[in-house]
Amino acid sequence: MLNTLTDLEVSKLSGTSVLLRCDLNVPLKEGVITDDGRIQASLPTIKYLLEHGAKVTIMAHLGRPKGERKPELSLAPIAVRLSELLGVNVVFSSSITDAKAHQSELKPGEVLLLENIRYEADETSKEESERQRLAKILATYGEIFVSDGFGAVHRKHASVYDVAILLPSYAGFLVAAEVKVLKQLTENPNRPYGVALGGAKVSDKLAVIENLIEKVDELFIGGGMVFTFLKAQGNEIGKSLVENDQLEVVSKLIARAKEKGVKLHLPTDIVVGPEFSPNAAATVVPVDQIPANQLGLDIGPDTATQYATGIKQCATVFWNGPMGVFEFPQFANGTKVLAKALTEVKGLNVVGGGDSAAAVRTLGFSDSEFGYISTGGGASLEYLEGKELPGIKVLEHK
Ligand code: ADP
Ligand code: MG
Repeated sequence: MLNTLTDLEVSKLSGTSVLLRCDLNVPLKEGVITDDGRIQASLPTIKYLLEHGAKVTIMAHLGRPKGERKPELSLAPIAVRLSELLGVNVVFSSSITDAKAHQSELKPGEVLLLENIRYEADETSKEESERQRLAKILATYGEIFVSDGFGAVHRKHASVYDVAILLPSYAGFLVAAEVKVLKQLTENPNRPYGVALGGAKVSDKLAVIENLIEKVDELFIGGGMVFTFLKAQGNEIGKSLVENDQLEVVSKLIARAKEKGVKLHLPTDIVVGPEFSPNAAATVVPVDQIPANQLGLDIGPDTATQYATGIKQCATVFWNGPMGVFEFPQFANGTKVLAKALTEVKGLNVVGGGDSAAAVRTLGFSDSEFGYISTGGGASLEYLEGKELPGIKVLEHK
């Protein structure tokens, strides 16, 4: 059982220094935040802690600075946005190890945000002793640790894992909500259980498919990975994206699905274009007639309708990975039709993955139309692969 913030008496928070890990890894374009979804998702836990009189020090990362102080990956703009959303001043400390002075001045209800934790090489080190060195400093900033950065819980990092060993630790509301949904998807889901997978690369998702094939009733394949499946079945795929080194694995998956009685849905028609470009002219072709000089950029309209019908009949649906290159409008139909079907599912429906979440927002859907939109791409997938997430494991009752 996960130790969660609700297991802690609220009176214990008053005047207490809390060290909080959040996932504030938002997309930035020239220093401007383009989607603050992850900051928004972190608010409930922060607000709860502040309302109950805690002194909150937040750790978070941005991108992969790999131990270097890369100015374009500073959390400074995030401190500003966080302050606006919370309606309280957020103190920002540009040096993690010198933040102690700021931290000791915090009053109940005040927030300190530490600079990008990945500026510290020890944060992501493979050496436990190096991570512990940083974790020990961080642990002086709080009497308790609250873990709410779901997007990083699959990482054995100092601010996610090692610090949780040193302090009494609790899952924040976001982490608790994500884990609850993932449990529903893996332990005894209502049936029929359908999973739709798309996105760019089959190799990213193979482990998930392998694990889910043992659990689902229906598997719907779209996106760039379609063509590795089609080629494995002997189809001509023109210039489409393909991973030749995965053909054998994919053939085995197709066989395993048959053996398990899992309905594996592959496209019957494809939208092709002459090149990967926003101006490419779109043509619909049957799946066995992809021209040699074109590439597949979306599932076709018949396929989209079939997938939608199948998905609406499921009682539990998980979707990860766009069905086509939704960034170009002429190849967005498959993703749009699938997203719409998901909103009509009578039962649990979950969207996972960074690009998939961005896709539903770009295509004009609102978050509330879905059962749940997961904030963590890699973390959700690793959970569904059946892997143990170190940042979750460490929060379980001993
Ligand atoms: P997520 O972040 O939701 O897990 P991925 O990162 O796996 O999704 O994949 C998203 C990308 O896949 C999108 O940018 C989309 O353009 C691309 N994609 C979808 N279909 C195709 C295709 N047929 N060919 C090339 N890329 C594709
Ligand atoms: Mg992605």
